[in-house]
Amino acid sequence: MSRQIAMVFDLNKCIGCQTCSVACKVLWHKDEPGADEQWWCSVNTLPGRGTPRDWEKMGGGYDENGKVILGQHPTPEEFGSRSGSKYNWEEVHTSADHVRLQPKDGEPEWAMNWDEDEGAGEFPNTYFYYMPRICNHCSRPSCVEACPRQALYKRDDFGVVLRDEGQCEGNQACARACPYKKIYFNKVRSIGQHCIGCFPRLEKNVAPACVRQCPGRAVFVGYRDDPDSTVHKLIDEWGVALPHHPEFGTAPNVFYVPPLAPFRLAPDGRIEEGQRRIPLDFLESQFGPAVGEAIDILETEIDRKKRGESSEIMDTLIGYRWEEFLGPFNADPAEIDWRTE
Ligand code: SF4
Ligand code: SF4
Ligand code: SF4
Repeated sequence: MSRQIAMVFDLNKCIGCQTCSVACKVLWHKDEPGADEQWWCSVNTLPGRGTPRDWEKMGGGYDENGKVILGQHPTPEEFGSRSGSKYNWEEVHTSADHVRLQPKDGEPEWAMNWDEDEGAGEFPNTYFYYMPRICNHCSRPSCVEACPRQALYKRDDFGVVLRDEGQCEGNQACARACPYKKIYFNKVRSIGQHCIGCFPRLEKNVAPACVRQCPGRAVFVGYRDDPDSTVHKLIDEWGVALPHHPEFGTAPNVFYVPPLAPFRLAPDGRIEEGQRRIPLDFLESQFGPAVGEAIDILETEIDRKKRGESSEIMDTLIGYRWEEFLGPFNADPAEIDWRTE
């Protein structure tokens, strides 16, 4: 029987700490040649240009006739690569003056989280939120369909999209076809690489590193098709978790609880009750037309809690029962024998 895991990131709890990004990198490829600049999990500030820069305009996914769109492959500069640059380590270590670490071949113009905390809006009604992004392990993955070598495949037991590195010859069709631009090219090994869904952990009932390590308890994982799972309830029963850019057509399996923000302030400092600060049209451009209703539900549930009434949705999102974040993947990684046969 095929199963599909799903993840839900609660954007009202993500604090942009990058623990997920670093946990992933340390676990899977911190010492791998050619992977220095890969961030399988990246957390950007929205509104913003993201990583790689302006990725949302690069194309990929499916057109209205169900045909794969081969979009743009991001350049190293758009990823914020400093490949080939040399840093002034020696000067920093030996100079009698205070010298800051910097590249010797000019100032960088972009990096993984370049426009952090910039956001949008006019003071005092400015706004931003953090947006963690990983491979969506899509149910209709355009990367898989685009690969001429059949190097990419969807694994039945967890629904994660994996790559046979022995088959991959690095022509990067997958990277062009992925509309989320979550595939990286390893120049040293001449292959594409992307998030592996932490499948070696899933096999041992351990949650992915980006889920388990999140100090904000902002991420849920579980089987989408299990009606008792928290992810199923958030996505399919309560309708408060939505896919990112559903119009790309790949049926992503990573979902987001949309961000709320304080109500707008009038010029005299008065709170304009009910006037939302993050424009609805911007949120619709991110999460599709269902986002308004999801926000209505969240606000209604928050009001219930304020009145002292119970709310299963808010109790779940607050995380009173923290095991719910991990679903069946609740084994303690410190107690697992990780040796392979
Ligand atoms: Fe957000 Fe959690 Fe990642 Fe921190 S670890 S950036 S809170 S999702
Ligand atoms: Fe493929 Fe991109 Fe979907 Fe991941 S997010 S499965 S790389 S299309
Ligand atoms: Fe990295 Fe695992 Fe999270 Fe994928 S699921 S981004 S491999 S930590």
